Amino acid sequence: MSSVAQLEHRVERRHRRVEALPPRGGSTLEDVLSGVWEDLSAHRPAPCPVCPGELVPRPCAGAAAAGGRCTSCGTQLS
Ligand SMILES: [Zn+2]
Repeated sequence: MSSVAQLEHRVERRHRRVEALPPRGGSTLEDVLSGVWEDLSAHRPAPCPVCPGELVPRPCAGAAAAGGRCTSCGTQLS
């Protein structure tokens, strides 16, 4: 997959997530983090909850990713 296609895919995914938010308010931190974990567990990059960057899944031996690390601000989830 080219990097442009990946970017388009990511933007599209972010759009869907915003549209899926409940109408009466923003998402809680828990909602955001569970979405991030969902992506990381599927070995997909996830939007960073701290900055506009991206969390990349950390490779591990098991089926699920062992957390992720932001490529921009260095935030780690594990
Ligand atoms: Zn970040």
